[in-house]
Amino acid sequence: MFALIPAAGSGSRAAAGEAKQYALLAGRPMLWHAIRAVCVPPVQSVFVVLAPGDRTFASHDWSAYEGRLEPLYCGGASRRDSVHNGLLATLGDRDAGDWVLVHDAARPCLSRADLDRLIAACEQHEVGGILALPIAETVKRAAHDHIEKTEERSDLWLAQTPQMFRVGLLLQALRQARGAVTDEASAVEQLGLKPKLVQGSRENLKVTWPEDLALAEGILERRA
Ligand code: C5P
Repeated sequence: MFALIPAAGSGSRAAAGEAKQYALLAGRPMLWHAIRAVCVPPVQSVFVVLAPGDRTFASHDWSAYEGRLEPLYCGGASRRDSVHNGLLATLGDRDAGDWVLVHDAARPCLSRADLDRLIAACEQHEVGGILALPIAETVKRAAHDHIEKTEERSDLWLAQTPQMFRVGLLLQALRQARGAVTDEASAVEQLGLKPKLVQGSRENLKVTWPEDLALAEGILERRA
């Protein structure tokens, strides 16, 4: 089993200037924490997909992951392209039946318990699955600045990462995917398959807006 972290986005919503995966949280880049969360057995190696022109990665210290971390400078125009390119780059020494965990660089607070629960739930599953959270809030569909309608929330979940699939299946799904593919599961769904939903936790937040940085840092510092 291996992990792949797409980290080739520009992250313009979180902060001006540097891409958000390098924003410092508790003294380390956000990406460092995302790697730490998945660089644990049974994951044997972690691949990070970077933008081809990325000069920031090499300026940080990754020695904690010596021998288990490999940067791939093959990010694409979209998250889907970055994951697809990354999987192709790792394919040489992998079996199509290997499991891959795709995890956002922007989710630095994934806990060991959530990761273990995902793996245990998906290891025997025929398709694979994702961490996700049932929606607690009432959901409104907007038209400009007013409410168009209220959505039925009882069957709605928020998709998180990691998302766990077999390499061969995921490559096929990403290659064939049409329309907006903002996570791996949506590509797999387009094949007519039904990935498993595994309940995660709110602490596995996706750092997107400026205030998320302080929330994530608080979670990491409390755990330390
Ligand atoms: O932009 P967003 O927050 O949805 O990005 C989710 C993840 O996908 C981030 O880890 C980001 O770096 C990555 N990404 C990528 N290549 C892109 C766009 C996003 O690897 N072209």
